[in-house]
Amino acid sequence: MSDLLITNVRPEDGAPADILITGGRIAEVGPGLTAPADTPVHDGKGAIAMAPFVEPHVHLDKILWGLPWHPIEVPAGLRAMIDNEVEIRRNLPWSVEDRAGRLMRQCVAMGSTHIRSHIDISTFYKLDNVQGVLAAWEKMKEAVGLELVAFPQTGMMIDPGCAALMEAAMDEGCSVVGGIDPGTIDGDPKGHLDTIFGIADRKGAKIDIHLHEPGELGLYEMGLICDRTEALGMEGRVVVSHAFCLGDGPAEKVSAMIERLAKLRIGIISAVPGEIAFPPMFDLAAKGIPCALASDSIRDTWNPHGNGDMLDRCWLFAFRSWSRTDAELLACLEMGRSRGADLLELEGHGLAPGCEGSLLLVEGENRAQVLVDRPARALVVKAGRIVAEAGRYTGPGAP
Ligand SMILES: [Zn+2]
Repeated sequence: MSDLLITNVRPEDGAPADILITGGRIAEVGPGLTAPADTPVHDGKGAIAMAPFVEPHVHLDKILWGLPWHPIEVPAGLRAMIDNEVEIRRNLPWSVEDRAGRLMRQCVAMGSTHIRSHIDISTFYKLDNVQGVLAAWEKMKEAVGLELVAFPQTGMMIDPGCAALMEAAMDEGCSVVGGIDPGTIDGDPKGHLDTIFGIADRKGAKIDIHLHEPGELGLYEMGLICDRTEALGMEGRVVVSHAFCLGDGPAEKVSAMIERLAKLRIGIISAVPGEIAFPPMFDLAAKGIPCALASDSIRDTWNPHGNGDMLDRCWLFAFRSWSRTDAELLACLEMGRSRGADLLELEGHGLAPGCEGSLLLVEGENRAQVLVDRPARALVVKAGRIVAEAGRYTGPGAP
C-alpha cells in the first residue's frame, strides 16, 4: 500500500485538481493539495486522470504474445481447432509463466489494473496452467488484481477426470467455474451444466460460461443456465461470455431472455467479435444487466488480433455500434471500465475519495476524444504505486 500525490490533472476531464493517495486509497481530490514531506509527487502536466480499465475475459495460458509472429492456419471445425492449439502449445519455447507474465504486463501498461482470465483444465494439462499463471502473477501481484476461471476448453464430460480437476482447481487458486458450448463440445448440455453448477455450489464459486452457440440452440442453453441459477439461488453470481444468441436469435425470444437475465442478474461479456452479431449491449445495460467488454482471444493459435488494450476494445465497440455523440462514446468507454468493475464486483473502482488509488493518466482534450484517438497511457497507478509510464510496464517484476 503506497502513498502518492499526483498534481495538476483533470479527473475524468473535469476541473484541474490534485489527487492524494494514502495507504493505497484515494484520500483527497481537489486543488492545491499538500502531503507529508516523504510522499512521492508526480506532476500530471494537465493530463486527464481516469479510473482504470478492467479486463474481464482473457486467456493468459493461451497467449503467444512476445513470441515470433505465428501465422494462423486454422483447421476446419471447432474440434480440429482445439486439437491444433494443444499440439502447438506442446512445443512452445516459453513456459505458461513466461507467456502469462508478458500479457499481464502489457495489460497493465495499457491501463488495466484487474484481470479475469480463463485457464485451460484437462486431464492432459491437469492444473499446470493454473500453477504457471499464478507463478507469473506472484511476481507482480502489487500491479494487477487477478481472478482465475477453471475452463474446460477441450471438453469435460468427454474427458473423464476433467470435472474432478475443475473442482480441485477451486482449491488451487481459481474462484470461478467455467464452461463452454455444452451442446457442441460435450454433446450433453444438461450434464455439462449440472456438473459446473454443482462444483460452484459446493465451492461457493462464481460461474462464467463461454456460450458461442447461436440462435435457438444458444437461447435454449441460456434458458438451462437461467434454470440452474434460479434453482441454486446464484442470482448475481453467473456470467455468460459471448452470448452470440442474443445478437442473432429471434427478436421475441431474445427480448424474453433479456427480461429473465435481468431478473437473475446474469452478466454478459462481449469481445465484439469481427465475424458475428454480438449482444445488444446498450439494451442489456438499460435493463440493469451487468455487462462489459473484454479482449478474449489475443495473439494465440486461434486469432492474430488483439493487444490487451481495453481502450482499443472500447473503440472497436464504439465503431461497430456506430456510436458518434459524446454521450454515446462515453457510454462505450464505461463498458470497459465501471461496468466491468461492477460485473466483477470490484470494490472501490473510481476516482472518488475512499476508492482504491488506481488510475491512469492520458494526454487529451476530453474522454470522447481519447476514445477515438486512443493516445498512449502516460502513467498507470495501482493502489498508489506507479506501475507503468509512457506505455511501458515499470512495476514489480519488470524485465
Ligand atoms: Zn474466451
